[in-house]
Amino acid sequence: GGALEIYNRIKELINEKGLLVDLELDYEKEGIGVKKSGCHGFCEMGPLVRIEPENYLYLRVQIEDCEEIVAKTLINDEAVERLMYSADNKVYKAQEDIPFYKKQTRMVLKNCGSINAESFAEYVAKGGYQALGKVLFDMEPQEVCQSILDSNLRGRGGGGYPAGRKWQQVLKQDSKIKYVVCNGDEGDPGAFMDRSIMEGDPHGVIEGMTIAGYATKSTSGYIYVRAEYPLAVERLRIAIEDARKHGMLGENILNSGFSFDININKGAGAFVCGEGSALTASIEGERGMPRVKPPRTVEKGLWEKPTVLNNVETYANVPSIIINGSEWYKGIGPENSPGTKAFAITGNVNNTGLIEVPMGTTLREVIFDIGGGIKDNKKFKAVQIGGPSGGCLTEEHLELPLDFDSLKKVGAMIGSGGLVVMDEDTCMVEVARFFMNFTQNESCGKCVPCREGTKRMLEILEKIVNGKGTKEDLDLLEELADTISSTALCGLGKSAASPVVSTLKYFRDEYLEHVIDKK
Ligand code: SF4
Repeated sequence: GGALEIYNRIKELINEKGLLVDLELDYEKEGIGVKKSGCHGFCEMGPLVRIEPENYLYLRVQIEDCEEIVAKTLINDEAVERLMYSADNKVYKAQEDIPFYKKQTRMVLKNCGSINAESFAEYVAKGGYQALGKVLFDMEPQEVCQSILDSNLRGRGGGGYPAGRKWQQVLKQDSKIKYVVCNGDEGDPGAFMDRSIMEGDPHGVIEGMTIAGYATKSTSGYIYVRAEYPLAVERLRIAIEDARKHGMLGENILNSGFSFDININKGAGAFVCGEGSALTASIEGERGMPRVKPPRTVEKGLWEKPTVLNNVETYANVPSIIINGSEWYKGIGPENSPGTKAFAITGNVNNTGLIEVPMGTTLREVIFDIGGGIKDNKKFKAVQIGGPSGGCLTEEHLELPLDFDSLKKVGAMIGSGGLVVMDEDTCMVEVARFFMNFTQNESCGKCVPCREGTKRMLEILEKIVNGKGTKEDLDLLEELADTISSTALCGLGKSAASPVVSTLKYFRDEYLEHVIDKK
């Protein structure tokens, strides 16, 4: 978006004035430092420049604005109001007061857009690695598992399985070799939460994984990141090297007697590799295909050894829980789904971007208060939640709290946290066709119901979109959806029909219009 040019230009201008300091090396000198940070989340308004300590946030900054920012704000302490967020004749100077941020609770994203993700010192200055120190010196592995279980942290990858229970199951396994795996494969169209966490706060993920390693008596970890995320891979690589250099990874961490190291494994971008057994097969160098379970990953995962498998956001929650305690965590959001959730909000909404809200926040708050409502004053029609495995929600669900159980009740799921907002002009049959096309392409082909069934469903949907479908086709779609979801081998197939089922449920009239009009 041009942010790097702006970074360089601002630095150059400050340097010309003789005021440039290196924030890490010249901390005793007076001057102005410039740093790159991870994503602030307000993607619609980028490139963003934040001024500290005033907390000003400048939006849509262009290269020609840099001189004014330096001369007015950095030298003369004056705000450049035209670059600030304004609404209803009000200028919002501080980032935290902007409506987009005000309703958010940023826990896993707290360092994103704040610290330099490539700086070990900045992470430590924000309290980083204190949680690791606490578990290594004050807690037994079982206590760590219990603490995560008590917090009721549920897996943020989609399933919502309690992370502490998974950790306890791995701890119980009698094996000298155990693994901790982080799923950073995030393949849903419209989702970029894990990417932003890895890019903006890589040490948070590393610390969470190392704590999981200690809690389960594992000796090494793997972060599986899709190769299409080169910046995430690079920042994780730098963070792992720095953590090793400072004794937070490797042999005898902080002289505690505990050894643990982490490797990065790049995925080639297959959606199915987000499924646990396909992901571990891919790390092993095999073709990424799911296998029949049991045995479960906690018993026989990576190289047939007990394995903790959680996603990026789950691990990123762990250090704060250890430091602040499980009671504190349970106090955020509803009891059955405590904590926060990061969502990537995209589509026909004014403020697209990355947000983090307490679980239980309603869809209306997310789409209208934080997302700023529908673009061009159009009417809200639906939101696809949970990516291709999720479902569509409509106006009647706007007051629905976003948490694992409430969504399940209406046939949707949080999934990894993608929210694609659609306005009144969106054709819901085309939406169903789009997601079915995606899933069909990504089906690994191992089992018949998914391999053949999704193909047949896609053919029918194409027929309907092209005005050649019949009413009987709608029944056939429902029958196929039912068969595939009850017989497919893995989650991809089981949930492949969800977008079709939910659009048929809530927008059947639209399907009928396509069918009847052309007959
Ligand atoms: Fe592969 Fe689909 Fe079967 Fe999963 S359900 S194993 S993706 S063919």
